[in-house]
Amino acid sequence: MSILVLGSGQLARMMALAGYPLGISVQAADVADNKIVDPVSKQIINNSLERMIEEVNAITVEFEHIPEDLLELVHGSGKLRPSVEAILTGADRLREKKLLGKLDIANCPFEIVTDIEKLDAAVDKLGEKLIIKSSRDGYDGYGQWRLHNIKDLPELKQNLAKLDLNKVPLVVEKMLSFDRELSLVAVRSSEGDIAYYPLAENLHYQGQLHVSIAPAPKVDEALNQQAQSIFNKLAESLDYVGVLAVEFFQIGEQLLVNEIAPRVHNSGHWTMQGADTCQFENHLRAVRGLPLGSTKVTSPTAMINIIGCKAFARDMLSIPGCHLHWYGKTPREKRKMGHFNLCADNYVELGKTIQALINYVPTEHFPMLKDEAARLIKL
Ligand code: ADP
Ligand code: MG
Repeated sequence: MSILVLGSGQLARMMALAGYPLGISVQAADVADNKIVDPVSKQIINNSLERMIEEVNAITVEFEHIPEDLLELVHGSGKLRPSVEAILTGADRLREKKLLGKLDIANCPFEIVTDIEKLDAAVDKLGEKLIIKSSRDGYDGYGQWRLHNIKDLPELKQNLAKLDLNKVPLVVEKMLSFDRELSLVAVRSSEGDIAYYPLAENLHYQGQLHVSIAPAPKVDEALNQQAQSIFNKLAESLDYVGVLAVEFFQIGEQLLVNEIAPRVHNSGHWTMQGADTCQFENHLRAVRGLPLGSTKVTSPTAMINIIGCKAFARDMLSIPGCHLHWYGKTPREKRKMGHFNLCADNYVELGKTIQALINYVPTEHFPMLKDEAARLIKL
């Protein structure tokens, strides 16, 4: 049994690792040059993309920004899960907003800007605190600009004037002050069965995910139902197969959708240690037409991204419940190099485990840990 993943980064790698026990061989296509690589060893496999597409049982993606000609080629094979439509919706904020509107799903107030001179009109409508997002190719806070004060508008317009907004319009959003960020990672099978992981609470720093706590503390049944019903609407309208992540802003009792990701998601990495079946295995099961695995939580887990730093001593592995996933990538500023999953019996213990970790890691790369540990200990 074999699956081809478009994209050869850490998500393909973790799918491959999850596929081994099931006897599913996962290979990856580097979308920059269409070479086939082993996503774990990174060795190039001597096989053409066309032959690979013919040989494998199913094809999926590890990210949504896939060149459209490649997506079309793969779509033609009839093996792509999720569908082209789902992938393109996740890749393009305009399509995404259109779908949310069509399904009547609450999201952030926004304006579409295709001419930089119209940015002033967006400010008039939405206020002077804005997040301006490129409609395509953004991730981890890249492709975004923030306006905090109207006096910075002329300079911002000057910067944005370089972009071809007719080709790639801007989605200008009101900067919301939400209570917290949550995400729902769930998986839908080809038969339409859905298995939900619990909501995760996500802490971002400079637009990038640093920490996910799962299950999110203080989630009542109504909030859970609200998230699941939004997921159902989206997944059913896209006839979705595989893992889909929905990012939310929580304001009071209401959830607004921030964005969707048609793939396994960073806020679901905790499931590798904290759930009965991890998101990577469940994604493979879904795209291969196998029954879904249980998403039952086995322990509260903190997923902590390792961002922008070189390898360090692994002495933290002496901490009970500490698991390291190191992706083996070349270090670069703001690059995700790996993650920790910390598991504990309850939130207080989880807070203490995070506190213990702080002693072992270069803290300048982990700005959220101290406060998060203190918060969990007080729960
Ligand atoms: P990316 O594709 O980079 O994840 P997002 O749209 O999710 O892009 O934005 C990244 C982060 O920026 C969000 O998780 C959130 O912390 C912050 N953010 C995005 N949009 C808004 C908004 N409208 N108001 C306030 N914060 C926002
Ligand atoms: Mg996001």
